[in-house]
Amino acid sequence: MIRKLYQSVFSEKYRMRSKQFLNRMTARFYQGDEYTCNCCEKSFKQFKAKGNTLVTRANAQCPFCGSLERTRTLLFYLRNETSLFTEPARLLHFAPESSLSPFFKKADNIDYVTADLNPNYADYRVDIMNIPFCDESFDYIICSHVLGHVPDEKQAIRELYRVLKPSGTALIATILDRKNPHTFETGDADTPEKRLQYYSEPDLLRLRGNDFSKRLEEGGFQVEIIDYAVQLGDDKRKKYSLGDGSRELIFKCKKAESEESCISETLD
Ligand SMILES: [Zn+2]
Repeated sequence: MIRKLYQSVFSEKYRMRSKQFLNRMTARFYQGDEYTCNCCEKSFKQFKAKGNTLVTRANAQCPFCGSLERTRTLLFYLRNETSLFTEPARLLHFAPESSLSPFFKKADNIDYVTADLNPNYADYRVDIMNIPFCDESFDYIICSHVLGHVPDEKQAIRELYRVLKPSGTALIATILDRKNPHTFETGDADTPEKRLQYYSEPDLLRLRGNDFSKRLEEGGFQVEIIDYAVQLGDDKRKKYSLGDGSRELIFKCKKAESEESCISETLD
């Protein structure tokens, strides 16, 4: 009742800002040096737990900036292994994480575009199955934990491929059941309760198995699966709480150079 009244009186943007402010105020109760967040550079005795009635992850969310295991892993990867922060780039960021966006906004070399179905979360209201941007218009795309919620995932992947420039990179992440070679998807999962039971989250539409990279390849991408938390080593993985790989794998999806440039390179 009180929650509904609060939601009807205050806009979603106001509520989001209030929540961020409250988080930052209460983060002081987590003060310590056991864990560190590479997004806000603050240390804590623990991160917040995150999850639902079925699955809860300890030490998942930064109490100050709200980063998750996958956010921290991705920031390490972007800084250490890509040219995103060093070379001119046009970046399309779906469902932009508030703990990552400031890095892209303040980088002079990045032409930053954010997109979400909810316009309160991004610059543009965008249905990922029908992206309103021109062909080959982005050097980088970040799309983390979006595709599992999209009704027509195949169409969304086609659209991501279309708007990416030749030799561009899409960095995609999703929840995975790494023990299962196949994606699990059933028409019976028609309520939030059933989706929670089948897919571990009430708004997921499928639980991806190890065939996820094949689906991306079918969309035209050259795919490399990167378990960057493992590459960083056990000490960093624990210190920054980078997860167990069920949500943090980075699917690095490259779009090949266009045929024209291949021919001209050959002629040179
Ligand atoms: Zn943080």
